[in-house]
Amino acid sequence: MTDTWLVAGGAGYIGAHVVRSLQAAGIGAVVIDDLSTGSSDRVRVPFVRGDIGNVDLVTDVLRQHEITGVIQLAADKQVAESMTEPLTYYHRNVVNLMQLLTAMARAEVDRLVFSSSAAVYGMVEAALVTEDHPTRPINPYGETKLVGEWLIRDQARATGLRFAALRYFNVAGTAAPELADLGRTNLIPMVFDALDRGEQPVIFGCDYPTPDGTCVRDFIHVEDLADAHVAAIAALDSPGAAQVFNVGCGRGYSVREVIETVAEVAGLSIEPRPSDPRPGDPAMVVADTEHISTALGWRPRHDLREMVRSAWHARSPQLSAAQG
Ligand code: UDP
Repeated sequence: MTDTWLVAGGAGYIGAHVVRSLQAAGIGAVVIDDLSTGSSDRVRVPFVRGDIGNVDLVTDVLRQHEITGVIQLAADKQVAESMTEPLTYYHRNVVNLMQLLTAMARAEVDRLVFSSSAAVYGMVEAALVTEDHPTRPINPYGETKLVGEWLIRDQARATGLRFAALRYFNVAGTAAPELADLGRTNLIPMVFDALDRGEQPVIFGCDYPTPDGTCVRDFIHVEDLADAHVAAIAALDSPGAAQVFNVGCGRGYSVREVIETVAEVAGLSIEPRPSDPRPGDPAMVVADTEHISTALGWRPRHDLREMVRSAWHARSPQLSAAQG
């Protein structure tokens, strides 16, 4: 019988891509999502609308669908919001995770892939961040992801739960227009939105100690990221394979380079406006991806241009078709 995985948060941008990758790998998927930010339009597999904090509901879903393992992406992810609403973030990202683990223990589901974040590192000093870099998150969002990792690790020690925690770097792009990111709080969507309003995009800080003075980030295509979940699932077949993995490209692009790529893809001339640095932004966060490539055999296949191009086509199909 085919394995079936429960994708918690599968109606979201990343979750819907994970479902797509599972299907491509011949693995069954069931989605649970409370639709707080996700959309049921993205879901083409059995779908339960509900909260992962509801232990009875999740236990029933796990039993009824004979679930092999859970991919947990049902969480809040906006750094700025986490600063003003820490209780909400601890509730949704930590308390609900505890409830999910409780339901998994009850239903004897012993495999978990957890969506973590490079935000667990906080201020990064190294040129490339390895998984054993100190974890000192600088906002409640990053804290809740780190506490989530601890919780899962401790539960794994106590019960034999097999898990992989994937620390996502800067996720971008889309595999298909209908799966595109609807959030507007990250760099690429914010650049698009500025252009839409007939304004020039803003660069938060041009005096960082980086080659062009703007922040450097590691952008990963959501399709590659989704495939990393499938690779992680395969690794859980071996006992004791619990691991924490960076998921990035291992290459940095500056904010200015990203905006130049948007200009190229959109065929527009863009003159970004320098602005004050955003509080709490580290100068440079780039993944060392040695661990995931060695342990899981996973490597990204898409570059920044493809991320920008797919996102641009998804938001303005007519305009982009006219420009070829
Ligand atoms: N950024 C920017 N202009 C914008 C949006 C973001 O200069 O309109 C910068 C931001 O300061 C950071 C980088 O782009 O250095 C990536 O920001 P994002 O919020 O996408 O992700 P983060 O790395 O903060 O998680």
